[in-house]
Amino acid sequence: MFNSIKAKVITLYSLVMIAFTSILLLTMFINERDRVLDLELEKSTEISKMHANLLSQEFAQYVVMLKMLSNNPQIELGNKLTIARLLQRLMTIGNGNFINAVYIDKDLNLIDALGNTNKVTHPTFLRGQQWQGKEYNITVPIYSRFEKTPVIMVAVPILDEQKKWIGTLAVAVPLTVISNKLSSIKLAKESYAWLTDSNGLMVSHPNKSFIMKNKLSMTENVNYPGFYKIVRQTKLQNDGYGRYRDAQLNESKIVTFSKIDYLPGWTLFVTTKESEIFHNSYAIMYNVLIIAIVLMLVFLLLITHLANRITKPIVQLTKGVKESVNNKSSYLKIIDSNDEIGQLSQAFHDSLQKIHSHTTHLEQMVNHRTEEVTAKNLLLSQQNDKLEELASKDPLTRLYNRRAFSTLVDKEISRAKRHDLSLTLVILDIDHFKRINDMFGHNVGDDILCHFAHELSANMRKENLICRWGGEEFVILIPEATSDSVFKYIDQMRNKISLMNFAPVDRLTFSAGMATLGADESFKEWFQRADRALYTAKGSGRNCIVVD
Ligand code: GH3
Ligand code: MG
Ligand code: MG
Repeated sequence: MFNSIKAKVITLYSLVMIAFTSILLLTMFINERDRVLDLELEKSTEISKMHANLLSQEFAQYVVMLKMLSNNPQIELGNKLTIARLLQRLMTIGNGNFINAVYIDKDLNLIDALGNTNKVTHPTFLRGQQWQGKEYNITVPIYSRFEKTPVIMVAVPILDEQKKWIGTLAVAVPLTVISNKLSSIKLAKESYAWLTDSNGLMVSHPNKSFIMKNKLSMTENVNYPGFYKIVRQTKLQNDGYGRYRDAQLNESKIVTFSKIDYLPGWTLFVTTKESEIFHNSYAIMYNVLIIAIVLMLVFLLLITHLANRITKPIVQLTKGVKESVNNKSSYLKIIDSNDEIGQLSQAFHDSLQKIHSHTTHLEQMVNHRTEEVTAKNLLLSQQNDKLEELASKDPLTRLYNRRAFSTLVDKEISRAKRHDLSLTLVILDIDHFKRINDMFGHNVGDDILCHFAHELSANMRKENLICRWGGEEFVILIPEATSDSVFKYIDQMRNKISLMNFAPVDRLTFSAGMATLGADESFKEWFQRADRALYTAKGSGRNCIVVD
C-alpha cells in the first residue's frame, strides 16, 4: 500500500494535521486553563468577600434596630404592655427576617413576641458583668423550644443611666433566612455558597442534610481529599481559596472563602465545580476541534485530488512504457502537458524511439553478419571437405592414400572381430612398370597408373576399400569375404585387365597376393602374409594371384 505516492502523501498529511491539531489544542488548553483559573478564582474570592460584607451589613442592621429600641426608657420600668408592643414592633421592622423577639429582665425573666414567658437558664446567655465592653452578641445557632428550629440569637444589652446591665433585647434569626440570602450567590451554573459558624458547624448549605450536622475538620477527610488545607487557611486568613476533590462525585472543585466581620469566626464559602469553570474553554476547544476536523477533511479531499492528478499520469505512463516494451513497439502515447510528467513522457517516448531504431539497426547487422558467417561456414566446410579429401586421397589416382586406409582398416578390423566376420586383404603390384617409365616416359607412366586405378574402382563394389599403397602397388580390403570366396572374382579382373588396351603400352598385367584376417592377428602380420603371397606370385612368373 505504501508503495504508492498517493498513500504516502495522504498518510503524511494526516499525521502532520493530527499532530498540528493536537499541539494547537494542548497549547490552548494549558494556556487557557491557567488564565481562566486565575480569573475565576479572583472573581470567586471577590464574590465571597462581597457576600460576606452583605451578611455583615445584614447583622449590623439587626444590631442597629435592637439598639435603637433598647434605648427606650419605658423598658427600664418593666411595663409589660410596653415591652410586648416593643417586641411586636421589632418583628414588624424585622420584615420577616426574625421569627421571634425576646426581652429578658435582670432577674432572667423572659418574655417573647409570641407571648411565651420563661426563666432563662441557657449558659450562653450573657448577663451582668459578661456584657462588659460588648455592644451586641450574636450566638451560634441554637435550638430553642419556642421557635422549634435552629436560630441565631442577635442580642443587645439594656443599660441604666450608670451603664449597668438591667436586661437584654434579642431577636431570633432562623437559619433559613441566611440560606435564602446565600442561595442567590452564583459564580457558575453549579456553584453555591455555604456558611459555617465560629465552631466550624455548617449553618447554611444547599444540601439541607449538612446543616447543623457537618463540621469543618482540620484533618484529611476521605470524602473530600484536600479540603482540610482550606480549613487550615481559614484559621489564618480573612479570605483565600483552594482546591479539593469530591470523592463521591469524583470531581475537582475550587473553593473561595471569606470571613464575616460582624460574625467573628464565621466563614462564607463559595464552591464551584472545576469543570464548570473550564466549561467555556472546553466549548472553545470543541469548536476549534470541529473546525480543524472540517478543514482537515477539506484539505484531505484537495490533497487526494492533487495526488491523483500527479499519480494518474505516472501510472498511465508506466503502463504505456510496459506495453511498448512488451510489444517491442516504438509507439508511446505522449502525455500532453508542460509539467515534469509531460517532459518525462516525452523523454520516454524519445528514448523508446531511439532504442527501437537501435534495435532494428542491430537486428539488421546481426542478420547480415549471420548470413556472412553462414556463407563463410559453407565455404569453410567445403574447404574442409577438400582438405579432408586432399589429406586422405592420393592426388594422382584419387584413391585412398596409405594414411586414410590405415584408419579405415582399423575400423573394419574392429567391426569384423566384433561381429565375427571375415576380412580379406589383396595387394596388387603392376608387373614391370619400371620398363613403361623407361620406354614411354614418366608422364605416360602416370596416365597408365590413373587408368589402372580407374579400372580397379570400376570393377570393385562400393564397400571394398581401394588404396594406392605406394608407386605402382595397390591394396584392396574386402569385408565379409574370405580369400577363397573372392579369389575367382579378383582373378577375373586380372584377366580382364590383361586383355584391356592401355595404349601406348601393349599389355598391362599385375600380380597379387591375398590373405584373410586371422583370429587375434594384427594388421601388420596380416599385411606381411599378403605381401609374402604377392612375392610368391611375382616369383612364379607374374600375372597371377597367390592366396596365403
Ligand atoms: P616388378 O615386376 O618386379 O614389379 O618390376 P617393376 O619394374 O614394376 O618393379 P620396380 O620396383 O623395380 O619398379 C617400380 C617402378 O615404378 C619404379 C618407378 O620408376 C616406377 N614408379 C613408382 N612410382 C611411380 C609414379 O608415380 N609414376 C611413374 N611414372 N612411375 C612410378
Ligand atoms: Mg612394385
Ligand atoms: Mg611392379
